[in-house]
Amino acid sequence: MVEEVLPKSFEDLIKDVHEPGICGECGGCVSFCSAHEIKAIEMSETGPPRYYNKDNCLKCGICYLVCPQTHILDNELNDKYHYKVSIGNWTKIASSQAASEEIRRNATDGGVVTAILMYLLDKNLINGAIVSKREGPFNRVPFFATTKEELIEAAGSHYEISQGVVSLEKYNSFVPSITKLKTVVSSDAMSIAVVGTPCQINSIRKMQELSILPAHIVKYTFGLFCNLNFSFNAEARKKLEKRFDFSFDDVEKLNIKENLIVQLNDGKTKDIDFKDVHEFARPACFACRDFSNVYADISFGGLGSNDGYTTAIIRTKTGEEIYNNALREGYIQEPPDLNTSVKKSEMLAKVISFGKRKFQRYKEALKER
Ligand SMILES: Cc1cc2nc3c(=O)[nH]c(=O)nc-3n(C[C@H](O)[C@H](O)[C@H](O)COP(=O)(O)OP(=O)(O)OC[C@H]3O[C@@H](n4cnc5c(N)ncnc54)[C@H](O)[C@@H]3O)c2cc1C
Ligand code: SF4
Ligand code: SF4
Ligand code: SF4
Repeated sequence: MVEEVLPKSFEDLIKDVHEPGICGECGGCVSFCSAHEIKAIEMSETGPPRYYNKDNCLKCGICYLVCPQTHILDNELNDKYHYKVSIGNWTKIASSQAASEEIRRNATDGGVVTAILMYLLDKNLINGAIVSKREGPFNRVPFFATTKEELIEAAGSHYEISQGVVSLEKYNSFVPSITKLKTVVSSDAMSIAVVGTPCQINSIRKMQELSILPAHIVKYTFGLFCNLNFSFNAEARKKLEKRFDFSFDDVEKLNIKENLIVQLNDGKTKDIDFKDVHEFARPACFACRDFSNVYADISFGGLGSNDGYTTAIIRTKTGEEIYNNALREGYIQEPPDLNTSVKKSEMLAKVISFGKRKFQRYKEALKER
């Protein structure tokens, strides 16, 4: 008799992802579990998701497949998105900024992400966008923005600490945005955009590949570059303050670009090399090899551009269409001096170099596991 081969299930996820300590606690497996209604698994406050009732598990394997830390669907995605080594497929690279001064004021870099979302909303091409919103000092939460005002409110990826003394009992720069997807669906005909880190866009693309509802409503994927995310407690906070000689009480903004940039409220900044803060990074990030968000329609980062501008890597036909339309309609602008062939090759070289470094880091971490 031929033995039935079951797909890998939550038990395998525990073995392959939780036990090696590389679960990013993104919530994808719990949100898209096929037994969601009867509850087989749940998030835990202290670590990776866990069984709620093992008997309710259908052993369907969906949780394993959509997890960004598993690689069963890599070949399918690479074929579909014409993956090329280091930074994936791309048709254009540009340095641009939002035309709106209000967007630029609120944005992390040039506000291009928010400006293109605004274009999509104005043209009724989306009902809204899954982004993240600041909630109090030092905390961001997943958010479904459906108006221009909400998009502007959610602009930026930095953390503003202007409310004075901050109690950093537990700080995590990662926002579990894709858990929002299931909660925003009001109709099958909806069309939304999702802004996310490479691990988040990876999960969305896997869901689309497997036709898992409601991934069909995601029409536009806006990927952010991502080198590392941080997670630390009060004790680690003190260590950071001592090591880099600053106080969190004096921090105005934290941004991630070429380095971790700590902007102090006396106008000074501290540029901290990523390798000097590895011990404060989320362990999951060392098992991650995508820097430039290779499966997104357009990827965005500050790396490679001057202050106040965003680097955009346009990858898919959809991405090309909306970027060019937003440019033509005056939502974004491209200063010619920042888009010469010399400048573009410099931008590309930087992104490739960060992509290679992240891949190398992944390989080294793999050897240690
Ligand atoms: C966690 C993280 C790590 C990053 N690492 C790098 C890096 O190493 N190098 C680099 O060059 N750039 C990095 N970026 C991207 C960079 O910080 C800017 O987001 C990017 O350049 C776009 O700038 P913008 O001004 O055009 O975007 P904006 O117009 O300011 O829009 C940014 C959008 O991203 C959304 N957002 C913010 N945080 C998150 C989040 N955690 N998850 C999902 N959506 C979010 C906001 O709500 C907003 O809609 C990172 C971003 C994040 C969030
Ligand atoms: S029902 Fe399917 S998706 Fe849910 S935990 Fe079990 S194997 Fe995973
Ligand atoms: S990384 Fe996300 S999808 Fe994978 S096990 Fe952890 S919470 Fe679940
Ligand atoms: S480094 Fe990778 S795992 Fe960590 S937040 Fe960024 S994309 Fe996700």
